[in-house]
Amino acid sequence: MPKLREAIPKPRSNFIKVRCPDCGHENVVFDRASRNVSCSVCGAVIAEATGGKVLLRGEVVERLG
Ligand SMILES: [Zn+2]
Repeated sequence: MPKLREAIPKPRSNFIKVRCPDCGHENVVFDRASRNVSCSVCGAVIAEATGGKVLLRGEVVERLG
């Protein structure tokens, strides 16, 4: 049996693909980002940091992992 380096259970975090409401670019956002996330193309804020799960400003395209 392999040794686990961490046995502490953690809430699962996810990456979410969010479409920018301004330009339509699909950005991958970490759902527990500690800072606001901006669109990589136009710079619009697409997810606001809240201290927990981010507040999404754009449309969720897909949830990853
Ligand atoms: Zn954009």
